[in-house]
Amino acid sequence: MDKNKIILCPQCKKPVTWKDNPYRPFCSERCKIIDLGDWAAERYRIPDKEIGSEEDFNENEKDILE
Ligand SMILES: [Zn+2]
Repeated sequence: MDKNKIILCPQCKKPVTWKDNPYRPFCSERCKIIDLGDWAAERYRIPDKEIGSEEDFNENEKDILE
């Protein structure tokens, strides 16, 4: 394994060294955060089908309050 290998940042495609890179496989903290943000945005689209379970949670909360 070449410890000095160069990878391309998945976000901006900039060549970046793998070694001593705390943000790998990204080139910087900024690219890492952008990628995580994209991933979180994808997740937020999914829960549309889970509204039912959210209602159940509210019901349980009401029981506790009464
Ligand atoms: Zn980058």
